Amino acid sequence: MTLVGGVQEVRVVPVPLRRLDSLLPPDRVERLDHHVVAARRMLARRTVWNINSTARGGGVAEMLHGLVAYAAGTGIDIRWLVVAGDPDFFAVTKLIHNRVHGVAGSSGALDAAARATYDATLARQAQEIVDLVQPGDVVLLHDPQTAGLAAPLRSRGAWVVWRCHIGLDEHNAWTREAWGFLRDLVEPAHACVFSRAQFAPDWVDPAWLRVIPPSLDPFSPKNVDLADEEVRALVHRAGLVVEGGPLPVDGRVVLQVSRWDRLKDMAGVLDGFARHLADLPRDVHLVLAGPEATGVADDPEAAGVLAECRSLWHSLPAAARRRSHLVAVPMDDLDLNARTVNALQRWSTVVVQKSLAEGFGLTVTEPMWKNRPVVASAIGGIQDQIEHGVSGLLLDDPRDSAELAGALSSLLSDPDRCEAMGSAAHLRVRDHFLADRHLIQYVELFGQLLGEV
Ligand code: UDP
Repeated sequence: MTLVGGVQEVRVVPVPLRRLDSLLPPDRVERLDHHVVAARRMLARRTVWNINSTARGGGVAEMLHGLVAYAAGTGIDIRWLVVAGDPDFFAVTKLIHNRVHGVAGSSGALDAAARATYDATLARQAQEIVDLVQPGDVVLLHDPQTAGLAAPLRSRGAWVVWRCHIGLDEHNAWTREAWGFLRDLVEPAHACVFSRAQFAPDWVDPAWLRVIPPSLDPFSPKNVDLADEEVRALVHRAGLVVEGGPLPVDGRVVLQVSRWDRLKDMAGVLDGFARHLADLPRDVHLVLAGPEATGVADDPEAAGVLAECRSLWHSLPAAARRRSHLVAVPMDDLDLNARTVNALQRWSTVVVQKSLAEGFGLTVTEPMWKNRPVVASAIGGIQDQIEHGVSGLLLDDPRDSAELAGALSSLLSDPDRCEAMGSAAHLRVRDHFLADRHLIQYVELFGQLLGEV
């Protein structure tokens, strides 16, 4: 539904939280119940608002679909708004995104002109949002795209939490520039949430800094169990492959799923695979899958990155081209998109996430839940998910393709190890990255905010 000034409301169908019970030990169910009672009491006459900049594509939208549905299922009044932006706004926010991750991204500067573009876009929508939000409501603003709403919403009398899903473990000149841009936008928020403590700039008040990692919904179309025939039908349907032959029917598959973002380094995976083809078993194919390039509103670099990957694919020797495939998953039907990614992850033997920066990486969590061994860069939130050698393999140097090839060939030659690692990965997600832990952390934060702890 579109409100007047471009703000959209995403309607989420409530889901009973009880659905999680079958996966949780009794003490976790009890602890969750206890927090639900507290949340209902605290939030009885309030609305909880989530505001971000896209309803589809990327980890934040993925997570909101699940969490908002579960929270609504407890009877809490929770709503989700999406701010609109023009290409200039998203060019600025992508620059912030890249620089928070420690790289230039492009030649632009986060200067007064960038700030004017940023402010103008949010100013057009702030009044509309302020009119919806009531004093005493709780507002969760997600990522840099919405930070500029903290001041008007605080003035409105709302409790404002800014949640940042991105970050770099160490700070450099680019991160300092980005945080310099964001500081006075973020400071009006009452509290800040980061996926890792290391991501927070030093000016965030430690008393109001929370570390809350993301979580995954086992029952969403992205993660629900699929029968083998459904996996095959989804993976082999026509129209998915944009470069390379049809996906293999017999061979084993190494997969990376990502948005077309340079920091996910899809090109680096393709290049590394091609360079070390001779070190990998002959039946192994590489599949790189991402959304259709125009599918994610706040991701303006996607078309360019996909084009770079396609041209790299064309430049490879024939033997590498025969065994590598670029897939663009349509985004017009979100359920089908999710089921397709789900099927690709279940169909793979090993999943890779060779990111150069990563706030958390649901694309690591998702295959781990599906009992897949994941080989991923030892950076950002990936390190909180994979215990090296137990629930996956971590790459010390994300730019070292020999290290990636070595990790892949060691796993591909040892199916028992793959299976053991996949089982450990599933348990790791069950124990740390499901919605109960996530919702409890929110309830604790709301308790602190509303003075009920
Ligand atoms: N994703 C998807 N379709 C695609 C590519 C990615 O649904 O074609 C999803 C992916 O399954 C995951 C999310 O987008 O749920 C990406 O989240 P992640 O935390 O890995 O990274 P982000 O994109 O937020 O940087």
